[in-house]
Amino acid sequence: MTKPPLTLYLAAPRGFCAGVDRAIKIVEMAIEKWGAPVYVRHEIVHNKFVVDDLRAKGAVFVEELDECPPDRPVIFSAHGVPKAVPAAAEARQMTFVDATCPLVSKVHIEAARHAENGLQMIMIGHEGHPETIGTMGQLPEGAVLLVETVEDVATVVVRDPSRLAFVTQTTLSVDDTADIVTALQARFPQIVGPHKEDICYATTNRQEAVKTIAPDCDALLVVGAPNSSNSKRLVEVAARAGCNYSQLVQRATDIDWRAIEGIRSVGITAGASAPEVLINEVVDAFRDRFDMTLVPVETAKENVEFKVPRILRVPA
Ligand code: SF4
Repeated sequence: MTKPPLTLYLAAPRGFCAGVDRAIKIVEMAIEKWGAPVYVRHEIVHNKFVVDDLRAKGAVFVEELDECPPDRPVIFSAHGVPKAVPAAAEARQMTFVDATCPLVSKVHIEAARHAENGLQMIMIGHEGHPETIGTMGQLPEGAVLLVETVEDVATVVVRDPSRLAFVTQTTLSVDDTADIVTALQARFPQIVGPHKEDICYATTNRQEAVKTIAPDCDALLVVGAPNSSNSKRLVEVAARAGCNYSQLVQRATDIDWRAIEGIRSVGITAGASAPEVLINEVVDAFRDRFDMTLVPVETAKENVEFKVPRILRVPA
């Protein structure tokens, strides 16, 4: 049987970012250094495949620090943790390694600096996301106000409109965040903040690549986890850029072939925590069913690399 023709646009950059790469390395190096089990507070990065792989190597994933025995090392996930978490680990004299992405740590420092200067903090982020919890947790409870939408900006109640600063989650939609920042600046003209927002290079680049290919795609699939913020944003970006069908898939078995019957073009990308092996699996699934022409579309070059913490670079 002849296969139908299909053009597959493979977005780049896609998949792993420097922060995810570093966090995974930290867990692997910790297991090598201290032996199994090594505890990890929260999924090290939001991807089941990555987590299962590390679990098989000797990592134990928990949600709270008190689930870790005090005599085993614990690693904090790439999303960052409230200040109280390392403080509690220190109080229990635990060995811990912080795998918070340096670009998230930068936001933590920004928030603390503004608060020290007497400014009230507003965070643009998603309620309940571990990164938002971690960033807001750099300051005492109630000190940081959260806004999620332009509508929230209209109702947020501040102490002094002339003494405000804002930070953002690193994995937001660039366009939505620009609208929220504009609304904040319109309501509070003296608000202090980063040049644009704190969205990281990886989030920005992946969204840009999707915007480039989406208008040419009958369908666009984002390889990523349902709890991955930057992956979910890519699905929205594709829809807004004009693609009629954009979906998140964790791996090839999630593809809804019926829903995309008759397509002539498809775009593939992946969130920052999705490994390349899963992207290849999805591409291969299309190759099996279609007479496929693969078109790589690279909209930016990435060469960012982060060092692992010193504690892992010195022998045990
Ligand atoms: S998505 Fe951005 S902030 Fe998050 S881990 Fe990757 S580089 Fe760091």
